[in-house]
Amino acid sequence: MNAAPVLPLDAQDPFLLVTMEIIHTAAWMKQVGRQARAEDRILGFVPTMGALHEGHFSLIRTARQQCSPVVVSIFVNPKQFGPGEDFQKYPRTLDVDRAALEKLGVDYLFAPPPEEIYPRGFRTAVVVEGLSDRQEGRSRPGHFRGVTTVVLKLFEIVQPRFAYFGRKDAQQLRIIQQMAADLDLDTQIVACAIVREADGLALSSRNIYLKGNDRGAATVLYRSLDAVRREVAAGQRDAATLLVALRKAIVSEPEVTLDYAEIVDAETLEPVVTLRRTCYVLVAAFVGGTRLIDNALIEQDGESFLVSL
Ligand code: AMP
Repeated sequence: MNAAPVLPLDAQDPFLLVTMEIIHTAAWMKQVGRQARAEDRILGFVPTMGALHEGHFSLIRTARQQCSPVVVSIFVNPKQFGPGEDFQKYPRTLDVDRAALEKLGVDYLFAPPPEEIYPRGFRTAVVVEGLSDRQEGRSRPGHFRGVTTVVLKLFEIVQPRFAYFGRKDAQQLRIIQQMAADLDLDTQIVACAIVREADGLALSSRNIYLKGNDRGAATVLYRSLDAVRREVAAGQRDAATLLVALRKAIVSEPEVTLDYAEIVDAETLEPVVTLRRTCYVLVAAFVGGTRLIDNALIEQDGESFLVSL
């Protein structure tokens, strides 16, 4: 009779792994998270929907510098897609993603099937009121309800000390920060800068939808924000005037339709009349059939304002 195989040391101790472990169940992920906490390790978490690109990688690199172990989740969350949105066709590239994460030195990839996150009979929703209804929330009803529900659930499963989010999704970041504060979560939210292509287009998993002329036209979101930056640098402080400059850039691309453009207070997400403290310029537009979002951060620096794209 064969004796039970003896596991090598690195397979017995989840923190001595030489390769990335892929976890599919909430129960095992929770076990790993719990053990990290018990051992006082600083677990860093990067939630994603996969189809990974440099934007995601920059979050992961930051997490790697600050944390060990690092957990990345890939879950295309059905609850944050509205009817008629791109849930079915959203790019799913797990094998390529896995190889990239391994190269980046990620410790755990959490890739649960939908039923692990939303088992039969699931009934709970998490809503950050007010902040979730405007801008993206107005154009995509129920979107942020889906986002906050899944992010809180993922936090409960992974139990991270730090979680990394891109400023690319500025409203999402703001809402998650509010949720973490309101619910006294033990997870610190870390905001990371927007990663862009050389021509300014913000990296997005949805950029693969941009075919033919749409790819070039899509840079108009960046160019419209850059127009605002130039106006601010020239001394303009009036939000309505800044938005005129933004819209003028957008209409120069006939296949691009503006959904909304707003200059808002970074905390309340309410429109401002003149620049003050910290603001966002938020823009959403359809490029052909593809909906893209982008933003610029405006920060007061003494008498002047700095615009980060
Ligand atoms: P997603 O997979 O689209 O849900 O994005 C996962 C995380 O990556 C979110 O926190 C996004 O804000 C972030 N992210 C996506 N694109 C970028 C980008 N171009 N620059 C920085 N962060 C990004």
